[in-house]
Amino acid sequence: MLSRPRTMIARSKIARTARGFATFLLAAAVAVSASVNAFAQGVPVVRDAEIEALVRDYARPIFKAAGLANDGIDIVLVNDQSFNAFVTGRRLFINTGALVAAETPNEIIGVIAHEAGHIAGGHQQKLRDQLDRAKTMAIIATLLGAGAMVAGATTNSRGLAGAGMGVAAGGGEMAQRSILAYQRGEEITADRSAITYLNATGQSGMGMLKTFGRFQSALSLSGTQLDPYRISHPMPQERIANLEALVKASPYVDNVDPPTLQQRHDMMRIKIAAYMQGQAAVSRLMRKNPTSLASRYGDAQQTYLYGNPGAALTKTAALIKEQPKNPYFQELRGDILMKVNKPKDAADAYAKAVSLDPARSGLLMVSLGQALMAVGTPDSVKKAVTQLNNGIGRDKENAEAYRYLAQAYGELGQIPAADLATAEGHFYSADYKNAKIFAMRAQQKLKRGEPGWLRAQDIINYTPSNKLK
Ligand SMILES: [Zn+2]
Repeated sequence: MLSRPRTMIARSKIARTARGFATFLLAAAVAVSASVNAFAQGVPVVRDAEIEALVRDYARPIFKAAGLANDGIDIVLVNDQSFNAFVTGRRLFINTGALVAAETPNEIIGVIAHEAGHIAGGHQQKLRDQLDRAKTMAIIATLLGAGAMVAGATTNSRGLAGAGMGVAAGGGEMAQRSILAYQRGEEITADRSAITYLNATGQSGMGMLKTFGRFQSALSLSGTQLDPYRISHPMPQERIANLEALVKASPYVDNVDPPTLQQRHDMMRIKIAAYMQGQAAVSRLMRKNPTSLASRYGDAQQTYLYGNPGAALTKTAALIKEQPKNPYFQELRGDILMKVNKPKDAADAYAKAVSLDPARSGLLMVSLGQALMAVGTPDSVKKAVTQLNNGIGRDKENAEAYRYLAQAYGELGQIPAADLATAEGHFYSADYKNAKIFAMRAQQKLKRGEPGWLRAQDIINYTPSNKLK
């Protein structure tokens, strides 16, 4: 008999993996890292199909205009309430705090455009190459940590406003300095590039101006938390004035985000509030327009998280009636049904979510697989294997999915496949020792040279300095 696979957690609860690193779950998200090293460094990566798809939709046209990528952008959501966003290669890292802070998509799109400007301009290329390699998360962790460290330094000396003048960190912090000491010229170039991309996509620069202006404003310095982005992005008055002139000269200055995109943005913000910040934050967001779809979504989510599952189902049904093609309403329905131990109904809801999802998120497929496993019949476990493999096909580094897959193979008596999946799960949790143990175990029962055997060999051969892929 399967235990219920889903580990649903609410605000401020932390799921601990076998290796003890904190990972946060959002909605039906599973506790996985977007990269092997995220786990290793304990950076709180959060996964959510809806938010990843939305941010990817924000980034795609900008990346295209910047000549960076046509598709396949990895969105890495960092569970941090401060403001930060940056791009390395095809990966866009963004703090949930930045997403909640932005009232419009345009504010986030502007920041993405500016970051794309840095990439296209080859700024700090050596650094960005480093970021893109194995040490990605280590450097990010350093950067995030640097925010607090530098905050202390500047508060003591010149006040936080001093951060805008360029930050000098302590003597042993050269690596941090190289990240933080963006050249003024590079900032201006990135601003100009950002406007080019926004113009190419018919979008206004007002959101970017608003975001950067907020960093400059003395009012925003009152908080106890220092935004890493503020540290890496000096905003002298002259720069804001130059940017403002560029933004206002654009023929698209008055363009606003399409209402459907704004609605998705509002739903994303309230979801982050519900899962990460709690009921007070949801209420605050709902206050402006309590009857909007986003508000009712937030209400359904917090009813599910903190209240009565039956009432949450009723509220979710109303949402589905209003937007029958919204995959994430189906996902929420599936989550609630799993919570009340109705895996068969949950599987139906997740199957709808999968079929409706234009982004084809692996996360939804894995949720479906988990629900099918919980149904527990031999037929449903077989179907679970298919769904979990589909999910992994979309999301190769999903450690949690491999663990469920191992369990499903085990139930079907396919032991070598179960061992290999266990090896993969350990591998993508950066537990290389156990990964090798299970890879060797799998190899003993696999035919030499077959694909599974070869993959096991890759894991056995792996050393952290000799990164796969
Ligand atoms: Zn910049």
